[in-house]
Amino acid sequence: MAFEPVIGLEVHAQLKTKTKIFCSCSTAFGKSPNANTCPVCTGMPGVLPVLNKQAVTFAIKAGLATNCTINRESRFDRKNYFYPDLPKGYQISQFAMPIAEHGFLDIEADGTEKRIGITRIHMEEDAGKLIHDPLRGKSMVDLNRTGVPLIEIVSEPDLRTASQAGAYLRKLHAILKYIDVCDGNMEQGSFRCDANVSLRPVGQEKFGTRTELKNLNSFKNVEKAILYEIQRQTYVLEEGGEVIQETRLWDPTKNRSASMRGKEEAHDYRYFPDPDLVPLIVDDAWIQDVRAGMPELPEEKKQRFITAYNLSEYDAAVLTADLDMANFFEQTITPLKNIKQAANWIMTTLMGMLNAKAIEISESPVSAHEFSKLLGLLESSRINANAAKTVFEQMIETGQDPESIVKEKGLEQVSDQGELEGMVDEIIQENPDEVQAYRDGKTKLFSFFMGQVMKKTRGKADPKVVTPMLKSKL
Ligand code: ADP
Ligand code: MG
Ligand code: ZN
Repeated sequence: MAFEPVIGLEVHAQLKTKTKIFCSCSTAFGKSPNANTCPVCTGMPGVLPVLNKQAVTFAIKAGLATNCTINRESRFDRKNYFYPDLPKGYQISQFAMPIAEHGFLDIEADGTEKRIGITRIHMEEDAGKLIHDPLRGKSMVDLNRTGVPLIEIVSEPDLRTASQAGAYLRKLHAILKYIDVCDGNMEQGSFRCDANVSLRPVGQEKFGTRTELKNLNSFKNVEKAILYEIQRQTYVLEEGGEVIQETRLWDPTKNRSASMRGKEEAHDYRYFPDPDLVPLIVDDAWIQDVRAGMPELPEEKKQRFITAYNLSEYDAAVLTADLDMANFFEQTITPLKNIKQAANWIMTTLMGMLNAKAIEISESPVSAHEFSKLLGLLESSRINANAAKTVFEQMIETGQDPESIVKEKGLEQVSDQGELEGMVDEIIQENPDEVQAYRDGKTKLFSFFMGQVMKKTRGKADPKVVTPMLKSKL
């Protein structure tokens, strides 16, 4: 029997506020344990939460950017459970009435476009963190993260493949970074994803039993974990077994998941409205305000890159997938004329270097300004493409300015007509057989002659001068 996968994603994104959602403690990452705490976020008796307005603004912004309806009235509820990193014994979240619902994102995957529904976006507080010390056999509690504002973005079960899930996640990640409400750092946990996966026989409408995958801290791991889970469930069903509704933990080193616990149902949490918080009322003026301050979104930027810079759809998509990359590109081309060349250099040489070093564009050892200077030298024919690669490598290594590398290494292109003509004449004299063969029609030999010129000039000849010269002399 053939099965069809059904996938829905839940994304927790940490909002970039300076302070926590219900108290004025700092949200700064990496502080010593429990430095960012107060009686409110440690759940002391008698304290009262006060909602952070900026967090609401960010949630509205995320809702608008994902085509959601913003609810004029929403409520906070208590989600009750016990865990040592949750001092109050409940998490303040939104259950029955979330801040935003009924949105969508258009994605492109497996060569087709698809609209993925967003069920809801709700606001909640984060829990703390347990630090396990196996050496002393102890676990310690760090409450710095307790009360940090989150939004949870819940997708409809509209995804059908791991690559669709990856595309949806990358798009959502890009949007949250573009609108500047989340730093998107997956390793530090500012952007976390749980994947729900089930299978159903092809043609059947009713969904099968789902499992929930956790600990997916990179896009790659999300896709790998989903592929693994599809295989695992297929195997279970083909063997005549039943999929158990459970939470499974992905192990990125072993490339497999293991059952963590049976999955709770919503009623297990005994949700009820938090009596300490009044309903959240958002008026039209607030929404209008947020809408007016909305920056250009990835799709709009892509369309602008296509029309303003004459880029292909593909190039524009690559360059706008990440806001920092789009900014790097625009800063680079500001003083340049050859935009296509700049786009190519960014997408091959620069991105190749970032991949090799496994770093983000924000950590690039070469700034857009310096990169632009390098391409300027190429554009004005001061250096050729080969030399530019050498200069780029040296820039990465030493942080030197491209101009001084060119001078120091003597990489300036030889474009002098007289000088090059002398060399071309010599080469023609030195290789009579090849010249004859070329003249007899073996025009492929042209690259041989070009190679000889490059050899004589140690790769510095200007091909724009040499090419016509060689052609006419041959
Ligand atoms: P919970 O917190 O219990 O996981 P949520 O409503 O927050 O419930 O999230 C449910 C997620 O699981 C949604 O993304 C939804 O699309 C997805 N989902 C629901 N049913 C299925 C199913 N049968 N197969 C795959 N995904 C599902
Ligand atoms: Mg869930
Ligand atoms: Zn606090």
